[in-house]
Amino acid sequence: MSSTGEFFEQISQNFDKAAAYTNHPSGLLSQIKLCNSVYHTAFPLEKDDGSIEVIDGWRAEHSHHYRPVKGGIRYSPYSDEDEVVALASLMTFKCAIVDIPFGGAKGAVKIDKRRYSDGELERITRRYTYELVEKNLIGPGVDVPAPDYGTGPQEMAWILDTYSAVVSSLEVLNRSACVTGKPLAQGGLRGRKEATGRGVYFGIREACNFAEDMQRLGLSPGLEGKTVVVQGLGNVGYYAAKFLQEGGAIIVGLAEQEGAIYDPKGLDIDEVMQHRQETESLLDFPKATNLPNSSDALELDCDILVPAALEEQITMENVDRIKAKIIGEAANGAVIADASEALFEKGVMVIPDVYLNAGGVTVSYFEWLENLHHVRFGRMERRFEEQAHAKMLQAVEGLTGKEFDKKPSKEIALGANEEDLVNSGLEETMISAYNQIREKKRQHRDQIDLRTAALVIALDKVARIYIERGIFP
Ligand code: NAD
Repeated sequence: MSSTGEFFEQISQNFDKAAAYTNHPSGLLSQIKLCNSVYHTAFPLEKDDGSIEVIDGWRAEHSHHYRPVKGGIRYSPYSDEDEVVALASLMTFKCAIVDIPFGGAKGAVKIDKRRYSDGELERITRRYTYELVEKNLIGPGVDVPAPDYGTGPQEMAWILDTYSAVVSSLEVLNRSACVTGKPLAQGGLRGRKEATGRGVYFGIREACNFAEDMQRLGLSPGLEGKTVVVQGLGNVGYYAAKFLQEGGAIIVGLAEQEGAIYDPKGLDIDEVMQHRQETESLLDFPKATNLPNSSDALELDCDILVPAALEEQITMENVDRIKAKIIGEAANGAVIADASEALFEKGVMVIPDVYLNAGGVTVSYFEWLENLHHVRFGRMERRFEEQAHAKMLQAVEGLTGKEFDKKPSKEIALGANEEDLVNSGLEETMISAYNQIREKKRQHRDQIDLRTAALVIALDKVARIYIERGIFP
């Protein structure tokens, strides 16, 4: 956790390593590395019992090379300024890697969500939003928050409503683009909720598709039959596990705060989630072995380990006991810099956070675009496409004198709806970014890891913006 105050230092270590593979001037590299601004606020919450509690909140805007800046808001008792700055910097590099024209930002409110009623959470969220409005740290063209650890569509709806209530009428037209990850009826996008986990799946699947890389790890190509352990079953972890399972992987271990479970024959993610909902614990799932010490799950025998909870989970303390051959770093900063290096030396493939969890911001970008367009993706062309496809099928039938089966032909003729387009855009983004990263690694004769390759790409892209635009004044 960031209470060690070292998260940004970890990212700086990774950054410096990548910077050594670029030719940019050191002053420019410092400008790209350091956080442009960070705002801290301490605001009062009136609790349900009438008492007053002071709440700490932050918003860090790491890089203004593109505007708006973008990044989630985290509700966590471990949050501090170091963590927010570190996460904001990751956002800058992440957006660059997946070609999203935003600078990086991040927000946090230092609370343990479980200690507050819904009413208190609403008041915290609204007051925090008000603080952001006051300081011009939120707006469709300024800074666009989204969900992160401990927040979801409900918080985003409160943010939108508060923003709408207090901004001038001039901003009203595009106000729904002030935040992403909203509920559907508030201008949210189909596919956003699942996007980060789905992106994790696309990224891991793509990595597994290269036979040569898998051979080096002693694995066969493809996701089918690979054993997976997932830590953290929140938004990212649950959907990552679900899509990996649907893609043919076998989930053998799952970990949450209360403990972990293991079954080498495979666990069904939805059955486990139902069990957890009913019993309020992951433990004692039929036929699975309990691991009361949750972090033991990280050391289980498996092909792919997906840490999807919080940072600093794989450290120098446990790195030697990690048995996975691939680590899909779904949570930001889950593998500390030295451990990442040690894993690379050991021949373990780490698919880095800065690429792997970029599906969230990618689909947030689509949501922001849709909000600014004021028209749902697919609304204009879906039926037109469907009719064009149907005509094409009829023409083929006319030419061949044969008829297609009714049901499959109906499926072939379907036009793309909003969710199809979102998922297609996400898949394209994750696949092409992985290929760029892999290519960069190969250009360096595989002497650098995927994280360094991804950061070299990010640095080059951000540096190019500065160089082409020049520095004001
Ligand atoms: P979440 O709050 O939805 O879920 C996190 C889960 O991890 C919770 O269920 C929590 O109980 C569990 N957890 C916490 N500590 C744990 C531990 N020590 N062992 C096992 N489980 C533990 O959060 P999320 O949105 O899924 O975010 C997870 C990670 O993914 C974070 O690093 C976040 O920054 C990153 N991320 C999230 C998004 C997004 O769209 N939500 C996007 C990019 C990156």
